[in-house]
Amino acid sequence: MTDPAGRAIALIAHDQKKPDLLAWASRNLDRLRRHPLVATGTTGSLIARAHPGLAITLMKSGPLGGDQQIGALIVEGRIGLLVFLVDPLSPHPHDVDVKALTRLAVVYDVPMACNLATADILIGQF
Ligand code: PGA
Repeated sequence: MTDPAGRAIALIAHDQKKPDLLAWASRNLDRLRRHPLVATGTTGSLIARAHPGLAITLMKSGPLGGDQQIGALIVEGRIGLLVFLVDPLSPHPHDVDVKALTRLAVVYDVPMACNLATADILIGQF
């Protein structure tokens, strides 16, 4: 099933969680192919390298504003699902951006997965 509104899936992972998101993307390739995809710079580049056939729109890297760019897409109604694998055990220079992004997902009622268990459930519904 594709999102009738054509909204994108946004993919982001903190550094320690990137291997998890790569593995998750591999497991869900068939589903991901059916949707527009956007990602922060490093996360998206890694996924695109692993799956050259997958079209992913790359934003800036998270610490350089990529999280905020994805937040702006949420405000514009262009994101239908946010998969953001956060690392709660490491400090991040762009912590305020992370908070702003997750806040906007709540404000605009965008389904948001911050861990793999939730991502598995939500991708099955999107
Ligand atoms: P990155 O950004 O994909 O460019 O590493 C993710 C983040 O840390 O917000």
